[in-house]
Amino acid sequence: MVITGYAGMLLPPERIILTSRCQECGSERYSFKSPGVEVNPSTWDGTDFFRAWPLPNFIFLSDRAAKALLRNHFSGFSLTCPEHFESEGMGPGSLRDLFGEDEHQQ
Ligand SMILES: [Zn+2]
Repeated sequence: MVITGYAGMLLPPERIILTSRCQECGSERYSFKSPGVEVNPSTWDGTDFFRAWPLPNFIFLSDRAAKALLRNHFSGFSLTCPEHFESEGMGPGSLRDLFGEDEHQQ
C-alpha cells in the first residue's frame, strides 16, 4: 500500500518532546506525553490513510477508514487512538533511514 496522504506535525507541541538528535545523521527521538497527540486539522490533507510528523513510520487513518476496517473484519493490523498514544523514545529515525541511504550506527 502506498500512502501519500500527509497531516504535517502532530499536536500539541508540548506533548511531543525531542529527547535526542544525532549530530551525524540527524536521527531524532521523541517522547510522547499523556494524554496523547492529535492530528492538526488545518494541515491534514483530508485523506483516509496518511502519515504525520514525527512518526512517518506509522500509518494514520481517518475515523471513517478505521471504522470501515473494523466493520469489514480486516485483520493483521492494530489501531491506537492518537489520544491514547504515549511512548518514550520513538521517532522518525534519520532521513537516511527514510530514504534508504547508507546505514549509520550511533
Ligand atoms: Zn546517527
